[in-house]
Amino acid sequence: MSTGGALPDTCPIGWQPNALAPVFFGARSLGPADGAPVPLRIFFPSLDGAVESAPILAGCGRYPLIIFCHGHCIGDPDHHRRWFRLPAQLARSGYVVVVPRLAGISSGQSPSVADHPDLATLQAVAGWARSGWEHAAVLLPPPATGLAGHSYGAMLAARFASTRPVAGYAGLSGGWGDWFGDAPRPLPLLDLPTLLVWGGAGDLFTQLSDAEWNQLRRPRHRVIFAEGEHWDYLKGVDVPCRNSTGACPHLGPAVDDLVTMFFGKYLPPEFGDGLPGRVPTSLAPPPLELTPEQEFFAGGFLNGWDALSGHPACAAGVSAVTELLVANRRTRETHSLERPCRFVALIGERNRQVVGTRPTGYHWCDFCFPRRADG
Ligand SMILES: [Zn+2]
Repeated sequence: MSTGGALPDTCPIGWQPNALAPVFFGARSLGPADGAPVPLRIFFPSLDGAVESAPILAGCGRYPLIIFCHGHCIGDPDHHRRWFRLPAQLARSGYVVVVPRLAGISSGQSPSVADHPDLATLQAVAGWARSGWEHAAVLLPPPATGLAGHSYGAMLAARFASTRPVAGYAGLSGGWGDWFGDAPRPLPLLDLPTLLVWGGAGDLFTQLSDAEWNQLRRPRHRVIFAEGEHWDYLKGVDVPCRNSTGACPHLGPAVDDLVTMFFGKYLPPEFGDGLPGRVPTSLAPPPLELTPEQEFFAGGFLNGWDALSGHPACAAGVSAVTELLVANRRTRETHSLERPCRFVALIGERNRQVVGTRPTGYHWCDFCFPRRADG
């Protein structure tokens, strides 16, 4: 997905925004009257701080698309509008983020039932972003698509991602224990990097057993907030369906940081070539190394994860299982040892290099990684 080339001289700043070098963001609320398939909010990078009128930052390379799926909140027909802080941070990090209104989920329709209407909505939203939206040209083509969601939305997003070219999936408190419909459980079907976050005993139906966790493909990341509650991601936001609140004041911003690091590692923007190697496996944000020009844009960015430390109620259990990779020094190609192609057996001892992440300047083997067609 990255070209490794130079930033185009059409870019008014000296870098393409990414998860370790942000800009500001803009957002628009659009709907069918604007040509969008459903009411939605779209977030994008900008150099302007006036969110609702801020122009998009174009000419600095293309951005991946991330679609965020809201959950079911009784009494909140426009629940998609409550999700603002997370898509804003992702937009600052070099993503175009769409948060659509999902009518089926809003009406309480379980994502586990056959023919869920919101699957067609997600398909329409992804198609519209890349062809109908006025700034469609800033988007990287598939598979540079990320899916994320909360609760029912996490379940629906996984189902969507399991059958389409998607580069990464982040699920927040998906109700996996409440998957009762006819559709197959999507998590074991996902052939892509995953991040799963859930809370404590009060975060009902969201806990995966270790057996289910071990069924997930690598690389997989899991963060469990022992005292987290179901709606803590939206702490401070008016959510009428909230029935209890956890004691950790920073859970939401901390999860924003995890999701930002996750996509930075597995779905970098067009010129984010060195980014994946800079994000640690823990997904804890590393210290930012910014120029004075970049510092100007970095206020309030990635402050959530570090704020957890010292708060007993904010304890987070982090686990990750990374890919087993081998790089061929001669062809500068990175293969998978879990799904190896026939070339892996042919790499001589002198050229074989076991690596944690794809080295800079190497490309993914098309046979081991059919979905990572990044040259
Ligand atoms: Zn291979």
